[in-house]
This record gives sequence, structure tokens and C-alpha cells, in this order.
Amino acid sequence: MEHPENDPNYKGLKVNKGIEMLPSVNPYLKSRKKVQRRHFTPDQYVEGILKGDITILSQAVTLIESSKHEHQVIAQQVIEKCLPYSGKSVRIGITGVPGAGKSTSIDAFGMHLIKAGRKLAVLAIDPSSERSKGSILGDKTRMEDLSREKNAFIRPSPSAGSLGGVARKTRETIILCEAAGFDTIFVETVGVGQSETAVHSMVDFFLLIQLAGTGDELQGIKRGIMEMADGIIINKADGDNIDKARLAMAQFKNALHLFPPTDSGWTPQVLTYSGYYALGIKEIWDMVYEYVTFTKKNGYFDHKRREQSKYWMYESINEALRDSFYNNPIVSASLPDIEQQVLNSEISSFIAAKQMLDMYLASLIGNSTDDI
Ligand code: GDP
Repeated sequence: MEHPENDPNYKGLKVNKGIEMLPSVNPYLKSRKKVQRRHFTPDQYVEGILKGDITILSQAVTLIESSKHEHQVIAQQVIEKCLPYSGKSVRIGITGVPGAGKSTSIDAFGMHLIKAGRKLAVLAIDPSSERSKGSILGDKTRMEDLSREKNAFIRPSPSAGSLGGVARKTRETIILCEAAGFDTIFVETVGVGQSETAVHSMVDFFLLIQLAGTGDELQGIKRGIMEMADGIIINKADGDNIDKARLAMAQFKNALHLFPPTDSGWTPQVLTYSGYYALGIKEIWDMVYEYVTFTKKNGYFDHKRREQSKYWMYESINEALRDSFYNNPIVSASLPDIEQQVLNSEISSFIAAKQMLDMYLASLIGNSTDDI
């Protein structure tokens, strides 16, 4: 007898015989043909991108994000070929602490712009995704209306690598999106750390989303972030919150007066709005385009783009040098030992660094830092 409960004399509930457990893996899976992802030549990628083919654009962005060398080689060729077709968009950085309403606002801003006939790409830089291995910024599910629009391209933050690496990938993605005909680019980031500087160095206009009614409007915002902002917009100006939002607006305006004049000659604006109820959205975009017209007229728009290109050249050099140093087999073999010597105070950090650099340079060209 399988179960004592099934004894005819047993008065309690009976136990039925279970059914055979189904295999958790489909047994026919092997017989199925593996769907092969198509690989294109760089020219085919470029052709697809220039036609505005979103599937090919997405695949090319995946190559940019890949850490595989062969993918990087193709990606760099695609970027190079797309460069002449890039640069024609307005790039806008959007930042705010978690909960400020970034995704709600981007949804509302995006719908406003799409209704006005624009094509919008939403990208993101989320250094925290390195830890969580999955980015929440730029996630389609957070932008419900926008994600259904054919003129919107939403791409989450590249997740692997250093902030510098992630930022570079986003910048390269901007180039491809512009070549694909997107005339407005959003780069979203969380307003808590270093990533704003990276975003600021790749956008034309930097929008800071703030909240009112928390009692400490001006606290917790790094001065540096406020100084970078071309526009401060106070979200959730709806219902009981309207007065508080207006008060916060006055406080921000006062605080901005204390800052030195901007290089662009533009006076940063402060506005209130509601992303959720789509109130005050038009005013925000009138402000952004007013800035674009103003800075194009006084030459700052192009000047800033050129400065950004210079900045990214140095960033790329720094990143390549760092990679070359840390991936050098001689360096990586000696580093733990030298590090321990520094920890044991047997050697100063300066001497240790010099020894490591000498070792590195000797492995490259047979020179030491003394010869430089
Ligand atoms: P994120 O973390 O910055 O992307 O913020 P979310 O867009 O996810 O918004 C955080 C919360 O604030 C959500 O519960 C939203 O519904 C709410 N929220 C966003 N915008 C508004 C707004 O304009 N008014 C009100 N009342 N709530 C809002």
C-alpha cells in the first residue's frame, strides 16, 4: 500500500496517487533548429541604420555594448561610418533622485514631442546597474505610453563596466540614433552621484527634476549638480502640492542668483509642472528650444559640442591607457605583491606606483619613467 491513509478502515482524508512530474526542460528542444541571429557587415548595419531600421539599430547598439573584441571592431566601423550623419539632434540630459518622477516625466515629455512630429531616443546612464546587473533606467515598462510609439526608441543603460565605459557606450549610441533619424535624444540618469558629470559632457541641455514639499528643498542636492542645470523643473505641482511647488520655485530662483553667470550666457530657468497630469509640459519644451535658439545664435551650442568632443578624446585616451596598464600580464602579476608591500608600509605609495609604471613601460618599450 502506497499510503496508510488509503487503508479502507482509515476514516480521514484519502491521498490520491500523484501524477508523473513533467520534465522541466522541453525534450524536443534539441530537435528544434537554433534560431540564428543574423550578422551583418558594417556596411549593412550602416545601411539599415540610415534607413531608420530600428531592429538593425538595436543590434548595432548591442555590438557597442558587447565586451567581445570582434564585436567592438565592427561597432567602431559602424560608428565611424555613421559619424557624418550624426550631430543633428538636440541632446537633453535628464536627472533627478529616485522617485522624483523621471520615468513619468519622460513619458509625458516624449508624448508631447512625438505629437509635435519629433523622433525621440531615450538612453540612460546608470552606474548602479553594475551592481544590480540590470538597469532600471531607460526601462520600457516605466514609460508605458512612449514604449508603444514607433517614433520612440528606448534603450536601458549599458550595464557592464566602469562609469567611463558606460558613458562612452551611451555617447556612441547617440551617434547611431542620430544617424537613424532621431532628432531628440534624452539621456536619463539618477541625480545622486558622478554620472551627472558624464551626462553633462554629452548633452546640449541639462534638465534637473526636483520635488517640492519635502521640507528640505535645497538640501541633499549637490551644489555642483544645480550649477550644471540649464533648467530646474519642479515636478508634482498638482493637487495640494501646488503651493509648495511654487514656494520651492521661488527658493530655487533665489539660490540660482548666488551662482556665477553661466558660460552660455543663458540664465537657468525654474518651472513647476506635473508629469503625471501632463501640466506645464509645453512650457518646459518652449524653454528648451528657446535655449537651443539662443545658444545657436551666440555660438555656444557649437562651441560646447566641440569642447565635448575634446573631452571625450581625452576620456578615451585615459580609458585605453588604464585598460592597457591593468591588462598587462606583467603588471597584473606583480600588482598584488606591491599592493601588500604598501599595506605593510614597507614601501611608499609613490615608489610603488613608480615601480609599477616602470615595469609597465619597460614591458612596452624598454624605457623607464625617468626617460620620459
Ligand atoms: P523615478 O524614480 O524618478 O523614475 O520616478 P517615477 O516616475 O517612477 O515616479 C515616482 C512616483 O511619483 C510614482 O508613484 C509616480 O506615480 C509619482 N509621480 C510622478 N510624477 C508625478 C506627478 O506629476 N504628480 C504626482 N502627484 N505624482 C507623480
